[in-house]
Amino acid sequence: MAVVGAGIVGLASATAIAERFPGASVVVIDKEPTIGFHQTGHNSGVLHSGLYYKPGSLKADLCVRGQRAMAEFCISEGLPFKRSGKLVVATDESQIPAMEELLARGTANGLQGLRRIDAGEIKEFEPHCGGVAALHVPEAGVADYQAVAVRLAEKLAGEIRLGESVQKIRSGSDGITIDTSHGSVSARAMIACAGLHADRVAAMSGLETPGRVVPFRGEYYRLTDEASSLINGLIYPVPDPRFPWLGVHFTRRVDGTVEVGPNAVLAMGREHYRGVRPQFGEVARTFGYGGFLKLAAKYWKTGTMEVWRSARRSTYAKTATKLVPEIRGEHLEPGGAGVRAQIVMPDGSLQDDFSMIKTDNAIHVLNAPSPAATSSLAIGDHIATLMTDIL
Ligand SMILES: Cc1cc2nc3c(=O)[nH]c(=O)nc-3n(C[C@H](O)[C@H](O)[C@H](O)COP(=O)(O)OP(=O)(O)OC[C@H]3O[C@@H](n4cnc5c(N)ncnc54)[C@H](O)[C@@H]3O)c2cc1C
Repeated sequence: MAVVGAGIVGLASATAIAERFPGASVVVIDKEPTIGFHQTGHNSGVLHSGLYYKPGSLKADLCVRGQRAMAEFCISEGLPFKRSGKLVVATDESQIPAMEELLARGTANGLQGLRRIDAGEIKEFEPHCGGVAALHVPEAGVADYQAVAVRLAEKLAGEIRLGESVQKIRSGSDGITIDTSHGSVSARAMIACAGLHADRVAAMSGLETPGRVVPFRGEYYRLTDEASSLINGLIYPVPDPRFPWLGVHFTRRVDGTVEVGPNAVLAMGREHYRGVRPQFGEVARTFGYGGFLKLAAKYWKTGTMEVWRSARRSTYAKTATKLVPEIRGEHLEPGGAGVRAQIVMPDGSLQDDFSMIKTDNAIHVLNAPSPAATSSLAIGDHIATLMTDIL
């Protein structure tokens, strides 16, 4: 069994396969020199509860099951983890209907302890937070997903080949041959979990994917030590239901630092982190994709505002101030950035749910944006079940 991608989804899938099919020989291949180099190592580290997702969707099912499995894994392995709880805060009355809709979704998804609280009770959890009402989500928390991925790799009964890029995939009646930068690997079947390159790896197998990965950068600020005492746990806005992103929020991470963000701006390349030069060829390819142009035509105003906010610390601070009025521009220090892999469909819509394509001898994980880190152990389990038809 070959797994492409040593991110948290690839490693969780490899682990589930090794457990479900004892005796299977598993090899994980990744082009980078270390585990979890891309999205797995560049995220907010939030353990999502399953609040936001449409009941019946893969995201709802796998997030609720996945967060419970992830909490158990972190605790049993002694990895950094805290169920800090979260507030989703309506800052004015106009946001209450959307907040109520989230309450209905979370309840339908089976979240434990989820409830609406009033302005007075908000202060009991987060004394510096403004807002007219909020949802209290006790099952939310924080974890270190890169540490989880490294532990999964250490425990895996299989081989991990790092620094080896998959370049070509050939399918035959007796299995699959994967040509890499270092040779080739023959396998009975393959699971591809290539994150930002998921559509390209699918194309190497001759698959036509229903959409394309468009990279969206998420940039963070870090609160100064002085200002970080204003935040106890996780403070989120009521999200804009048109987008899969959750809005700029406050996260007290497992190491105690407090981050503000991430925003969502078009990335200048699939691997455009801070300090990496823009990849103009990639940008040209994004602008050459009809699905992206349709998305941009529809949301150019929101997109322009996001870019403006990205460039100006004071505008970013203004967004944060809506949730915590004492926050000032001087409390924000530059933080990290990550790039999200998001499938955009040819009609310009953003694929909301997780998506996988199954062939005779492979499963391609195509769309696995947030909360895929939270959900990874349940995604692995789900993939192992899909594999029973193939193996
Ligand atoms: C800014 C940001 C914040 C987020 N916050 C959260 C959060 O708080 N909670 C949460 O649950 N989720 C969050 N997410 C989402 C989460 O990080 C991802 O959904 C998850 O990490 C996806 O894991 P993955 O293994 O699919 O992808 P990745 O971690 O990107 O792994 C894919 C791997 O495939 C490898 N690969 C690609 N192409 C090839 C090739 N040709 N040959 C060999 N190897 C290849 C890459 O090198 C990479 O290591 C966030 C994401 C971002 C970007």
